[in-house]
Amino acid sequence: MTRIYLDHNATTPLDPEVRETMCASLSEAPGNPSSLHAWGQAARRTIDRARAQVAGLVGALPEHIVFTGSGTEADNLAILGVVGRSRRPHLVTTSIEHQAVLNPCRHVAEAGGAVEFVPVEADGRIDPARVLASVRDGTALVSVMLANNDVGTIQPVEALSSALRARGVLLHTDAVQAAGRIPVNVATLGIDLLSFSAHKLHGPQGIGALFVRPGTPLAPIAFGGRQERGLRPGTENVAAIAGFGKACDLAAARLAADATRVRTLRDRFEALVLARIPGTAINGASAPRLPNTSNLTFAGLDGEMLVIHLDLLGLAASTGSACTATDGSASHVLIAMGVSSAVARSSVRFSFGRGHGEADVELAVDLLARAVALMRGESL
Ligand code: PLP
Repeated sequence: MTRIYLDHNATTPLDPEVRETMCASLSEAPGNPSSLHAWGQAARRTIDRARAQVAGLVGALPEHIVFTGSGTEADNLAILGVVGRSRRPHLVTTSIEHQAVLNPCRHVAEAGGAVEFVPVEADGRIDPARVLASVRDGTALVSVMLANNDVGTIQPVEALSSALRARGVLLHTDAVQAAGRIPVNVATLGIDLLSFSAHKLHGPQGIGALFVRPGTPLAPIAFGGRQERGLRPGTENVAAIAGFGKACDLAAARLAADATRVRTLRDRFEALVLARIPGTAINGASAPRLPNTSNLTFAGLDGEMLVIHLDLLGLAASTGSACTATDGSASHVLIAMGVSSAVARSSVRFSFGRGHGEADVELAVDLLARAVALMRGESL
């Protein structure tokens, strides 16, 4: 059976060059990067090289990058690290964030803080004016994601930065889905804190990074040694960091070409699906989107069942990230966009990657048409 993986927003295949870099690092002599001897210093140099590569992808200086154990941890460090010891912090975020942002924000609220979850517009984009209207005297942080994981909509983060800076409010963005897929530059965005993750850009799982603009008051959320300027204690995962660096280098070099090619494939996929499969619609299509993401509704079908049928036919897709308590498998992002829960439950996310070609699109549409026909009891 030919298999096709259309779930790059969940995780991406490790690039062979990244694997090589990691294997080389794992094969080196042992060395703790904090040790003074030659073994330790070799490991330190590996991290230094990777830090420069990772910083390069987002236009940052290496010394402003903090390695973390995941994108989730980078988000937690940004949010909880800014909140620090303040007794009644006020935060502003959006209703379409990933759980990695929503849940630390909820934690802050449960601990006595106040959090505003700004609703999203029907097109899947946040209105910057609504975000700014939620800011009040004493707001510590605004956190708005750069690109949404479920529908791919790109958020107008740069429209917030100057107004927030003027009011002394810090701005964080979760760029986990954006980094490596669209240009991301910390200066252009005017951002104070930016999270990203290796495994969404053909690097290894379990390694992330947080850009911290110099002067940003940030407290650690774990305590131990002095690694990562005391912001992320614990012996570094040298091989994963080396792999992250290589993945960022590759992503930076091929970003424009990959984005154009993947967008063409995604657009062709959507055009074919709409033409061949009745009762289909694209979610978030009227807003700027990530080039690789397609969120489609299949009228009358259960999205989770469709994902299972597709898996049996050899196609990997997803109903989106995590579930909400009230809506079973429905994407909280679609619900936030005002889509009915029936429509949200009938939606599936397909996310392409740089390894795909024309033939994959044709195959994916064939398998999808077959799965939908099977579920609708139609003959092919
Ligand atoms: N933020 C977004 C938007 C994501 O899509 C994800 C992962 O799906 C994360 C954060 C979490 O990143 P990680 O898997 O590295 O913890």
